[in-house]
Amino acid sequence: MPVLRFDTVSKTYPGGHTALAEVSFAVDAGEMLFVTGHSGAGKSTLLKLIQLVERPSRGAVLFDDRNLLKVRSGGIAGHRRQLGVVYQNHQLLMDRSVADNVALPLVLRGMKRVEINKRVRSILDKLGLAARERALPSQLSAGEQQRVGIARAVVAEPALLIADEPTGNLDPGLSAEIMGLFASLPERGTSVLVASHDLRLVKHMRKRVLVLDKGRLQDDIAPEDLVDE
Ligand code: ADP
Ligand code: ADP
Repeated sequence: MPVLRFDTVSKTYPGGHTALAEVSFAVDAGEMLFVTGHSGAGKSTLLKLIQLVERPSRGAVLFDDRNLLKVRSGGIAGHRRQLGVVYQNHQLLMDRSVADNVALPLVLRGMKRVEINKRVRSILDKLGLAARERALPSQLSAGEQQRVGIARAVVAEPALLIADEPTGNLDPGLSAEIMGLFASLPERGTSVLVASHDLRLVKHMRKRVLVLDKGRLQDDIAPEDLVDE
């Protein structure tokens, strides 16, 4: 069963600009894919519809077979707890330690402190950040900060992990490393959707690629059909 489905989704912003036009695709549980396209192609809009930051003008977005149109404002926070989100500028709390930042989603879920500490330590270990758990984000390199952002997004084992240009501020070497983490890190069963305008980097990952062009889904490329530039 797909965890996420777009069924002929269109989004026209107030003012008349159509950011997405009749976009359809489905994402299976445990599947990883990229969405790419030039600036303005509609990538951020697609991710905002999944997070209920925006609503479709036409068509339906289904998450776990539930039409998100049926989620009223009171249900939005609950919906978002099923998602892990990685931001380009990581959005870390700058006055909190690495461990506190990563613990946040678990604290919000009301998890017991002992369990939180165990999970946070485990994910920081996996990301090579164990020695930095008491550091403040400002004391970390850009790549380390982004790894903390990823740790925070996956610590609660979300059904779907999404990221908007997660390597936007990183050099090419670090970008490839961070993209690799998206492929390796999530629990089995977690689906991963990463938006990036960097088609070369995306193709290098050998995963399914959705290509948006001016809001239209121009291509949906399976890994075996990828051709390097
Ligand atoms: P991308 O992430 O691929 O750069 P976006 O989804 O941010 O694309 O934007 C797609 C198009 O929709 C762009 O032309 C952008 O200017 C427009 N757009 C995005 N957000 C809004 C908004 N809140 N109001 C009006 N137009 C918007
Ligand atoms: P990106 O390319 O990283 O998606 P944008 O510059 O397209 O960034 O958008 C930055 C923010 O401004 C987004 O929150 C988007 O929704 C909003 N935005 C983009 N285009 C417009 C627009 N034409 N009118 C109003 N808001 C917009």
